[in-house]
Amino acid sequence: MRHRSEQLRVLQDILDGTGAGTWDWDVGSGELQVNARWAEILGLTLATIQPVSFDKWKALVHPEDFWRTEAAVAAHLAHLTGRYDCEFRMRHSQGHWIWVHSSGQVKSWNPDGTARRMFGTYLDISERKEAQLRLEESEQTQRLLYEATPAMLYSIDAQGALLSVSNLFAQALGYTREEMLGQKPTAFMTAESAQFALHTVFPEFQRTGSIRNVAYQLVRRDGQVMDVLISAELQRDADGAPLRSLSCVTDVSQLKAREAELARVAHFDSLTNLPNRRLLSDRLKQSLLRADRSGRSAAICFLDLDGFKEVNDQFGHSVGDQVLIGVTQHLCTVLRADDTLARLGGDEFVLLLSDIASPMECAQILERVLEAASRTVMVEGQRLSLSVSIGVSLYPSDNADPDILLRHADMAMYQAKQAGKNRYQLFDTEMDRVTQGKRELLESLQAALQRQEFVLFYQPQVDLVDGGVVGAEALIRWQHPVRGLLPPAAFLPALQGSALEAQFGEWVIDSALAQLHRWQAEGMALKVSVNISAHHLAQPGFGERLEQALARFAEVAPAQLELEVLETAAIGDMQHAVDILQACRRLGVRFALDDFGTGYSSLTYLRQLPVHTLKIDQSFVRDMLVDADDLAIVRGIIELARVFNRAVVAEGVETLEHGAALRDLGCRHAQGYGIARPMPADQLPGWCAAWASAGAWLQR
Ligand code: C2E
Ligand code: MG
Ligand code: MG
Repeated sequence: MRHRSEQLRVLQDILDGTGAGTWDWDVGSGELQVNARWAEILGLTLATIQPVSFDKWKALVHPEDFWRTEAAVAAHLAHLTGRYDCEFRMRHSQGHWIWVHSSGQVKSWNPDGTARRMFGTYLDISERKEAQLRLEESEQTQRLLYEATPAMLYSIDAQGALLSVSNLFAQALGYTREEMLGQKPTAFMTAESAQFALHTVFPEFQRTGSIRNVAYQLVRRDGQVMDVLISAELQRDADGAPLRSLSCVTDVSQLKAREAELARVAHFDSLTNLPNRRLLSDRLKQSLLRADRSGRSAAICFLDLDGFKEVNDQFGHSVGDQVLIGVTQHLCTVLRADDTLARLGGDEFVLLLSDIASPMECAQILERVLEAASRTVMVEGQRLSLSVSIGVSLYPSDNADPDILLRHADMAMYQAKQAGKNRYQLFDTEMDRVTQGKRELLESLQAALQRQEFVLFYQPQVDLVDGGVVGAEALIRWQHPVRGLLPPAAFLPALQGSALEAQFGEWVIDSALAQLHRWQAEGMALKVSVNISAHHLAQPGFGERLEQALARFAEVAPAQLELEVLETAAIGDMQHAVDILQACRRLGVRFALDDFGTGYSSLTYLRQLPVHTLKIDQSFVRDMLVDADDLAIVRGIIELARVFNRAVVAEGVETLEHGAALRDLGCRHAQGYGIARPMPADQLPGWCAAWASAGAWLQR
């Protein structure tokens, strides 16, 4: 058994160990006994504060807290609480406030039930209190933040459940915060976004601790989808383990809508709402791929309204626009679900038909399209009806790339127009091959002209009676760098009717004049015949340009130049041709009708065209010695020339016998292999000299 004083000492040691101050209050007198630690807590020493009274103590308590201590004490003294417990602030000797936790109990009571003495302890809890206050404050700030922030925020705990959700975020989704808390954020995502989050974003987030603007789709309570961007930061504990994360959500639904609108403008025609050229090119590629897979055909149809320009001119553009809308509506009624009707602009449309099993099926659809396009459209009280011309290319029969397929359909559409409109025309690959070849040839002819690869050969024309050389026909050759010397038949057909034809013809005239000029200088006066196409002759300004060419070679007399008009059948406007010929005749130039007798209305031309010379076509001359009909024709032409007072030249004179027979029939002038083959210009003077000395024709 320990001594009582020994017990007290142990008790005192324990108290010292806890760092607690002690007090002993005489309730009746208000006198207060405290220990040294009590004083130390307040930065004082026992000596300086003794004796402590209730009033002295009260003066040190924070005025705002005093009522609390008073109330707590009163409650205990009134037996309402088993002990007294209170936290309050007291003034430290250095002026600042410290928090103390005071607790105690009445240990002796007066007989009347009032308290006599009360004992207790004093603990400095400033540090804990401040930490707690800081925490409370930050929690409150956070609560306020989540409640009031105009942002969509949420935080997630380490288990991935929602820890807090900002009001705005909950509202945006149509839930209350309470409904959301504890759930996983993926519960509010579309299945696709949830998958994306779980498998792609979360692992990355765990690793890096941060994500920025990841696009998700959230689902609102009403089922509507909301496009958002989410950024998040991960908070870790001291050991680096995930503690919680804070996410910020941005609603981009409107942006998405704007983006969709932009995509619409970029891919659809604003007037008709049909796909535009850009989208068409996409669909076209797809439908070709589909055709490749299915083994069926795709039809690419180029549509152009007939008479749309007239509607525009007559009623104005706004009516024109209404017509386009109306026709579009009619067309859409006959299309199948997978067909695409696109507008390229103006009155041009493209229709893509996929999965065409046979040309027959395509034809049936196009018949329906023609019918639909010609239905009446009501615009501003007017009943208007148009029609459409359609060109079609069929893939893979026409196995070309998308651009070419469109061009082919366009070309076929043009043919449909030419053939009378309101119809469809299938693109003909064979025909295209020919036109394509012709186009390439034309391009190389153009280049050849620039590179001066053409030369004129000359074939003499002689007098069958006196043996004199009366002239020479200039005949074009192409000195091809690879293929050698090419005759006109190899390239002239490509030129026919082209824009290059006139340029080419002018080069021939110029070269012939230059040659005449050179021979003139050498003392050789000759007549040169130059072939010109009827098309070239009909070009505006033909006469003026001929006059200028003649002016460039003033030493050459215009009468030394004879123009042989080819393909007289191609003369469309006879009066125009007559006018040109007359104008050129006034310059002094002579004219011949080439290949006379081959056209079925030679006589008409002979009567109307003011030419000097007829050239008997070589096909008659060749067989005149064996074929009685041909002989009769040759005789007839010679007779005609005499009656109409025209000179006559026989071409294709291959033998001396031909020459003799022609002379006997009254044709003095001849040209042919029997006399000479066409030759380079520099050989002609030598040939002429040799011809004169031989006098072959005089022999007979
Ligand atoms: P063309 O004007 O009727 O010219 C006569 C053609 O008959 C020439 O052929 C000539 O070489 C050929 N020829 C001459 N004598 C004989 C013969 O005895 N027997 C046979 N079988 N043929 C003979 P080429 O040079 O091939 O010219 C063919 C056609 O090309 C010319 O027929 C003419 O229509 C056209 N042509 C030639 N040069 C030009 C030119 O510079 N401009 C234009 N527009 N056409 C030209
Ligand atoms: Mg000729
Ligand atoms: Mg001829």
